[in-house]
Amino acid sequence: MSNTPHLADPDKNPSFTKGVFSGEIREDLVFPFPVPSAEDREAAAAILDSLRGWAADNVDTRKHDHDGKFTDEVRAGMAELGLMGLNIPEEYGGFGASAMVFNRIMGEIGSIDAALTVYFGAHQSIGCKGITLFGTEAQKQKYLTKCATGELIAAFCLTEPGSGSDAQAMLSTAIPSADGTHYVLNGTKIWISNAGYASLLTVFAKVPVEVDGKQKQRVTAFIVDAHALGVSMGQPEQKMGIKASDTRTFTFENVKVPVEDRLGDVGHGFKIALEILNSGRLGLAAGSTRGTRAMMRHALEYAKQREQFGRPIGTFEMIQRKFATAASECYASDAAWIVTSAMVDRGGVDFSLETAACKIFASELANRTANETMQIAGGIGYSKEYPYEQFVRDSRINMIFEGTNEILRALIALSALQEPGERLKQIGKAFKDPLRSIGAISGFIAGRAKRQLTKAEFAKVHPKLHDEAEQVADVIHALALGVEGLLMAEGKTIIEKQFHQERLANAAIDIYLSVCTLSRATAALEAVGGNEEEAAPDLDCARLFIGAAMRRARRAVRALTRNQDERQKAVAQRAMESAQLCPETPI
Ligand SMILES: Cc1cc2nc3c(=O)[nH]c(=O)nc-3n(C[C@H](O)[C@H](O)[C@H](O)COP(=O)(O)OP(=O)(O)OC[C@H]3O[C@@H](n4cnc5c(N)ncnc54)[C@H](O)[C@@H]3O)c2cc1C
Repeated sequence: MSNTPHLADPDKNPSFTKGVFSGEIREDLVFPFPVPSAEDREAAAAILDSLRGWAADNVDTRKHDHDGKFTDEVRAGMAELGLMGLNIPEEYGGFGASAMVFNRIMGEIGSIDAALTVYFGAHQSIGCKGITLFGTEAQKQKYLTKCATGELIAAFCLTEPGSGSDAQAMLSTAIPSADGTHYVLNGTKIWISNAGYASLLTVFAKVPVEVDGKQKQRVTAFIVDAHALGVSMGQPEQKMGIKASDTRTFTFENVKVPVEDRLGDVGHGFKIALEILNSGRLGLAAGSTRGTRAMMRHALEYAKQREQFGRPIGTFEMIQRKFATAASECYASDAAWIVTSAMVDRGGVDFSLETAACKIFASELANRTANETMQIAGGIGYSKEYPYEQFVRDSRINMIFEGTNEILRALIALSALQEPGERLKQIGKAFKDPLRSIGAISGFIAGRAKRQLTKAEFAKVHPKLHDEAEQVADVIHALALGVEGLLMAEGKTIIEKQFHQERLANAAIDIYLSVCTLSRATAALEAVGGNEEEAAPDLDCARLFIGAAMRRARRAVRALTRNQDERQKAVAQRAMESAQLCPETPI
């Protein structure tokens, strides 16, 4: 891959979650809890300060939601603050923010206006990120400099009517011209965020190539001028939430794309798309986590002042349980995106499964929390006069885009099975490329060589968190044993066993979030010389989260061998065949 380096190279770099599936705890990847450099702290503080001041005066999220668009002043303000070039390298006019700072800022925007986060993220996290990662020097000079100022707004065009999760099934084509000067692009891309604001598109299309005398189609990335001849755009989609984020269809009809605007090599487009999305997901996780905090701020204020039965509703334990759960999960989610951002900044780490874990957990946390805040608000929660119904509408999308949570769970489970799979010899090959393999793998035989797995221990957790560390280490050991048993029992059929994949992914997510939480709480304890009372706000959140997460993970591991999968399958199939969910209502 000459022009297309794989930053999170699964073949060379260690992965925390892949280690877990083999029963290993690669503590060095997660401990110590990252301390931002003085430079990063200063940068984040300065940007947060100006962002908050500007947003308080200029961003009216309810008006954006009502109008279905941002005002020109808001978009200009984002550019003036330098936000549109936040993660573009300094040599191309950007701020050159680390992943840590970028995600922190994206998180803050997420707490101000969810649609604005999509505008910001679609531009930088995915729209022009491909040029930063894989562009030639000339492409960077030509495009990134304008993206950094906001003169060019970028969008990412992968999804098509017939290919969403199965991105490789795309039909868009880019045919090289006879004189070799350009490609002719044809196809339709749907659900494109920032479409109405964008001038620069990263587009994925198939290029015909000859391999061993046979015609093949290879996914390839291109930089496309949104205003070029042959590019047309549909009307804005009428969405449930994030309404000001402009989402439309793009149609490409014989669009001439100069050869110098090909991004990376022919055939490297799918890897480029995955790589862009791998790091992009972390911003979404940070945004969802800060969003959770912001939503709960409204609910906390309401629960303090709303009285029923002669006392504030916040004094009732059923309401308190909602705050405690959200607090502990928010603590863990913050820990996870921060640890993972440090992995991205460090380089040489395969963080693809960890960013997926952060995205899944944080998006589901935000969705649950939005519903809980509506419940806490009671009747007014359902009224358009209050912010709660917008929370529910805005937060829902995060579980769908940048890889649906189902696809990301399959990615975590199948990728993480690769290491134990390789150890169990013959089956390793099948897990090399799980996204390509879903539904298409054949021809391997499960290894039967059983080996002993010893339980790994934590060495870097603060002694006062010994019990929690033990719980996590026990679950990691049980999971690794479960994985071995599963691989030997299922062999290649594991590719089709999504009840199991979902369990494996859920256990892996809870384990990763718990380990990041241990790392964060250890740092908090160390900062106060091990004084548990002083560290109580951290320790209570950590202990609540790990206790609940490990109960879920133990259940998931147990269900690898004790489950009702056949029955679940039968019920679902019966429902699909009869188009009736279950036996008719008896009356
Ligand atoms: C508001 C919005 C903004 C978007 N922005 C962009 C953008 O900027 N650029 C872009 O390219 N795309 C964008 N998308 C598209 C988005 O990424 C896709 O909608 C998403 O990837 C899912 O694809 P799909 O809609 O075709 O659903 P499908 O792939 O048809 O999936 C439907 C359901 O089936 C499940 N499913 C599919 N395959 C499997 C499987 N193998 N195993 C288990 N479950 C499976 C999915 O998880 C989902 O629940 C956006 C979408 C929306 C709604």
